[in-house]
Amino acid sequence: MSLQIYINGTFYDKENAKISVYDHGLLYGDGIFEGMRSYSGKVFRLSEHMDRLYESARAICLQIPISKEQMEADVIETLRRNNLSDAYIRLVVTRGAGSLGLDPNRTSNPQVIIIADHIALYPAEYYETGLKIITASTIRNHPAALSPRVKSLNYLNNIMAKIEGQQAGCVEALMLNHKGEVAECTGDNIFIIKREQLLTPPKDAGILEGITRNAVLGLARSLGIPAQEITLTRHDLLVADECFLTGSAAEVIPVISIDGRPIGDGKVGPITKKLMTEFKALVHR
Ligand code: PMP
Repeated sequence: MSLQIYINGTFYDKENAKISVYDHGLLYGDGIFEGMRSYSGKVFRLSEHMDRLYESARAICLQIPISKEQMEADVIETLRRNNLSDAYIRLVVTRGAGSLGLDPNRTSNPQVIIIADHIALYPAEYYETGLKIITASTIRNHPAALSPRVKSLNYLNNIMAKIEGQQAGCVEALMLNHKGEVAECTGDNIFIIKREQLLTPPKDAGILEGITRNAVLGLARSLGIPAQEITLTRHDLLVADECFLTGSAAEVIPVISIDGRPIGDGKVGPITKKLMTEFKALVHR
């Protein structure tokens, strides 16, 4: 059977799951999304994803037509219909179809789309060997232009940085903020370990407050690893002992070099390995 895609309460075969070319999600990137994971049939941190989705909606004055409770139930139903237990779930809410102008008041019917499928963001070997990344010259969106805390459909900023990474032979790229501080990678948050302390940029560095990031901070707390949300510069990264990235799709993935310079001894570090193992256990708990 073809994959069943949810659009506004109805399920369609993948081939027939379509929305209007006048949708402002397409025309202007006017909309929001979430990327979630389910493990053994259970969506990891579903309520946190719902909170972030509804906050993103509020931030862009988009009224989601269904309640959080209904949305949660519809996510679970999408998994059930597709008989998926370990999956990636993409939830999209667009502003809806409108006229050929920006005016959000001339749109109607926000489209709520739920796709449950499989994802392999990075090849499995990178979890063993670690990623090599570069620093992109494209900076993360200025928070006063479009807050990176809104998970909007407007990802061109990050896509440009990802292209820079790919042109340098890397699958991920580091983005600095408008002040030159470390923000995050194009689709993942970043952590370093320095003298056995876990460090990651604070929310106000202009980052998406990742749900995996928060889970890893929680793990560190429960394992007794000192952790801080603190402003980091590229210098801090280059002299770090270890580095890794976090994201719903990526989970916890080690980084072994930045801009061709090895991090620590250039191998996946022990604290990174420990957190990778503990994260795997946490998602199945
Ligand atoms: N930063 C950006 C820019 C992202 O798009 C994502 C999600 N792919 C993340 C961080 C990680 O967030 P989460 O752990 O909630 O998936």
